[in-house]
Amino acid sequence: MNVDVLYLGPMDNCTYLVTEGTEALLVDPAWDMTAVEQALHRGNLSLLGVFFTHGHFDHVKFSQQLLERTAVKGYLEEKDVALAGLDVSLLHTYHGEQTFHLGPFDIHVIPTPGHTAGSVCLQIGTALFTGDTLFPGACGRVDLPSSNPRDMRQSLVKLAGLPEDTQIFAGHRYGGKCSSTIGYERLKNPFMRNALRDKENL
Ligand SMILES: [Zn+2]
Repeated sequence: MNVDVLYLGPMDNCTYLVTEGTEALLVDPAWDMTAVEQALHRGNLSLLGVFFTHGHFDHVKFSQQLLERTAVKGYLEEKDVALAGLDVSLLHTYHGEQTFHLGPFDIHVIPTPGHTAGSVCLQIGTALFTGDTLFPGACGRVDLPSSNPRDMRQSLVKLAGLPEDTQIFAGHRYGGKCSSTIGYERLKNPFMRNALRDKENL
C-alpha cells in the first residue's frame, strides 16, 4: 500500500491518495479537484471510495463535483453530514465503529469525536488518517460549534492505545509536518500526554 499526499488550498490541507496497484482511495479531497483528478489519471488509477475524516468545509470543499463526476460514494459519519453540506445521495453515511471492505482495502473507522461530533480516524493497514483530531505535536481545535474538549481527551486516549508503529497522517500540514507515529506522539505530544495523565478523571 502506498500513501501520497497532495497539499491543497490556502489552509495547508492534506488530501491523501492511498493506492494498492491501480486501485485507489481518497481521504479528504478538497479545494482543487483538477489536481486530485490529475493525480488519479497520472497513475491510471481506479477510484473505489472517498472517505472524509469530518465535515468541515476545508476537508470537503468542491468534493461534490468529484463525487458527481466519478459516481464513487463519499463516506462520512452521519453526525457531520449537515456540516459538510454535501448531497446525501452521493454519500454512504454511517455511525460508530465499523470496517468497510473495498477492493484490496480494509478501512477501519474509529470514532474520535471532539473536534467535531462526527470526527473519525481511518485505519488502513498501518496507516491512520487522523483528520483534525491528532496532529504531530498537537490536537485539533475544540472551540468550534460541535466541538467537545472532554470527548477530545477520550479520543486521544483511545488513539494512544493503538500500536506504536501506527503511522499517522493528519489533515493539515501545520509546522511543515503532517506525519508521525503513535509511539512518538505518545511520548512527545503534550495534548495526548495530558489526556493519558488525566484519564482517570475522564
Ligand atoms: Zn476541521
